[in-house]
Amino acid sequence: MASSHTVLMRLVASAYSIAQKAGTIVRRVIAEGDLGIVEKTCATDLQTKADRLVQMSICSSLARKFPKLTIIGEEDLPPEDVDQELIEDGQWEEILKQPCPSQYSAIKEEDLVVWVDPLDGTKEYTEGLLDNVTVLIGIAYEGKAIAGVINQPYYNYQNNENQKLREPRNEAKAGPDAVLGRTIWGVLGLGAFGFQLKEVPAGKHIITTTRSHNSQLVTDCVAAMNPDDVLRVGGAGNKIIQLIEGKASAYVFASPGCKKWDTCAPEVILHAVGGKLTDIHGNALQYNKEVKHMNSAGVLATLRNYDYYASRVPESVKNVLVP
Ligand code: AMP
Ligand code: MG
Ligand code: MG
Repeated sequence: MASSHTVLMRLVASAYSIAQKAGTIVRRVIAEGDLGIVEKTCATDLQTKADRLVQMSICSSLARKFPKLTIIGEEDLPPEDVDQELIEDGQWEEILKQPCPSQYSAIKEEDLVVWVDPLDGTKEYTEGLLDNVTVLIGIAYEGKAIAGVINQPYYNYQNNENQKLREPRNEAKAGPDAVLGRTIWGVLGLGAFGFQLKEVPAGKHIITTTRSHNSQLVTDCVAAMNPDDVLRVGGAGNKIIQLIEGKASAYVFASPGCKKWDTCAPEVILHAVGGKLTDIHGNALQYNKEVKHMNSAGVLATLRNYDYYASRVPESVKNVLVP
């Protein structure tokens, strides 16, 4: 029987369940203790067993249900049969109860591009900064990011500096009843859900930026924002969560290195609540399947007061970062 739901809403509902399954895999790999770390291009560009298993899980689960989608995942993996145990077939019914924004109701499967970051914040994951980690599934139509799901497997986890990965089974949670992990989702024109929107106190400039991929250009650009505070944390998904939860006012990354799978889902969540994410020049990012993966001209994102931060990006920084 044909479903009465639109392709987009069915895809988001499936991506939600698939992202939840991904979160369980991310936690299981830590609990088993063998991260299987591989260096990709350098010591700060890593892949773990969790990155590999989660990408297989997400991409295979999506492709089974939506065979005409274009799916672009971060990890380069050899083709192999995916263990049935990694496949998630569910869809979150709460999402199917929501109306599809009318401008997306006629979208066909083959019109959609899905950008998958199976584990964002891998460097931090290997260092036990587990609450920095997210799983990102972004959905684009006509080059624009329109829907996204973010799972944060270690939401409610409290990092203990003395207990980082050496004791991976000692997961300290915030209070005895705190549930580990959450899933945030959003669709442009509908909203973003799974968190409590909060703003940084008015007039405070709190910048969040990279912890593991710093450069002089990044430092210069952050300093030019005249910040009251600078937070250095891992993950693009994690930094967007800081913006929507009132922990940071701008995400500033004046460097290449961040890719389309890092920004697609987070951008949707931010845009759905009235924020803005662009490159450092103020250009919108494009997500059609032919696009270059690298966000060569960096990232600038805010929930409010975008113009203030954009106006402070030094010309010297813009001149180096060519789109
Ligand atoms: P970060 O803010 O450093 O956590 O970076 C956000 C995302 O961009 C993560 O997925 C990083 O792996 C990626 N990224 C940023 N800079 C680089 C880089 N120089 N090399 C590889 N990946 C990078
Ligand atoms: Mg990433
Ligand atoms: Mg990744």
